[in-house]
Amino acid sequence: MNQFSELVNKQQQFFKRNHTKSIAFRIEQLKKLKHVIQSHETLLNDAIKKDFHKSEFDTYSNELGLIYHDINEAIKKVKRWSRIKRVRTNLVNFPAKSYIIPEPLGVSLVIGAWNYPYQLSFAPVVAAMAAGCTIILKPSELPIHTSQIMQQIVRDNFSEDYFAVVEGGIEETTALLKQRFDKIFFTGSTKVGRIVYEAAAKNLTPVTLELGGKSPVFVTESCNLKMTARRLVWAKFLNAGQTCIAPDYAIVHEKIHDQFLEAVVTEIKKSDYKLSNNNYVQIINQRNFDRLTKLIQSEQVYFGGTCHPEDRTIEPTILKGIRFEDPIMQEEIFGPILPVIAYKNIQDAIDYVKSGEKPLSCYIYSSNRKEIKQVLNEVSFGGGCVNESIMHITNSKLPFGGVGASGIGSYHGEAGFNTFSHFKSILDKPTWFELSLKYSPLTKRKLDFVKKLL
Ligand code: NAD
Repeated sequence: MNQFSELVNKQQQFFKRNHTKSIAFRIEQLKKLKHVIQSHETLLNDAIKKDFHKSEFDTYSNELGLIYHDINEAIKKVKRWSRIKRVRTNLVNFPAKSYIIPEPLGVSLVIGAWNYPYQLSFAPVVAAMAAGCTIILKPSELPIHTSQIMQQIVRDNFSEDYFAVVEGGIEETTALLKQRFDKIFFTGSTKVGRIVYEAAAKNLTPVTLELGGKSPVFVTESCNLKMTARRLVWAKFLNAGQTCIAPDYAIVHEKIHDQFLEAVVTEIKKSDYKLSNNNYVQIINQRNFDRLTKLIQSEQVYFGGTCHPEDRTIEPTILKGIRFEDPIMQEEIFGPILPVIAYKNIQDAIDYVKSGEKPLSCYIYSSNRKEIKQVLNEVSFGGGCVNESIMHITNSKLPFGGVGASGIGSYHGEAGFNTFSHFKSILDKPTWFELSLKYSPLTKRKLDFVKKLL
């Protein structure tokens, strides 16, 4: 027993009453969630601005807008996703029929990360609602204002036996993880992902782990340099680099290395990513600010490098002359610093990436289909883009998730529905006919026939 036993128990009781199995109920809750978020947009914008200075434009385009899109899609497609699926029956079971019934897993726990606090909390909630689960959401405690506002608007509008927000950090999450859930969906670091996985194993609870890692960018000799720099700069410095699928470092062909650096700087100068810009995103807290500033070695700075402790901002920074053994190459950067490494031979670059943990994302900028194919074929990673970065997340037809140390499972669109569902397989047989094959006497003739049949 702990402080969350009662809440989990209430949700278990509610789930058992089967209300969430009705498609009409799910659609009603999804519509309600959309209305609740929409009618509190001003408060949500204010909260995230207080937490790390995220602008209204960014909050809409990479948080709320994506949530609305997910909700609209779920409302439109939940009936289709939940349809019983007929499949072929094998001869040995004649005259039965076979079908698969999607069913909600039950009481789910969603643990969010801080860097896109609304999107990373509500997007899994949308998937859980569509699948018919009840939900306990534990947002990250670091952006304190966004956590509070999510708790408030959910508490005021949803019954806690169906959907509740629990606020807190390590202590509360540890207590929650002692409860028995039917599904745990976690977004965060690989380190904490391991803790969650271990806790889930005690109850054999299925998990989805959306984790992080160092996402590489291959920039080959044949790339469109201007477009590469434009797209890469946008993706790297969005949210001040605090994006799980941000390009972490660039490996660039030595022949275009210098031109690449110049093109990147030109794009940074053209962009809104400036310390003087009132909308430039802050580093989430002092600990991360200190960690990042230590990674900037002045002799490696090609551009930027200015850090403002008073408002925890770091200028878009490009580092050159980086070696694989440098400290910046040993951990996920998660900030506005782009190390650039030159390569001679694409195979060496690929081998380097393959020598580390499997990344969450990988990007290749090239117009050489052979090289593109080589990277896509050889490197194992969660998902990624060719001649683009980050934008694969916006296509809900592409399941989003990691592999190996960058995660387990995926979501968005139908993949999200599947993540919170169990697929129950049924063989349904009438009683008017029965083959005698499996019953005695088990003769040689029967065995010959079984051999043919199987
Ligand atoms: P984190 O792992 O520190 O925290 C995530 C959640 O776990 C928070 O809600 C936190 O309260 C909880 N938590 C922290 N320590 C815990 C512990 N010891 N026991 C139980 N719970 C604990 O991650 P973060 O700093 O919030 O996020 C950054 C990381 O998340 C990066 O590695 C990033 O790449 C990754 N991330 C991944 C995705 C994705 O979709 N794959 C999205 C965003 C962030």
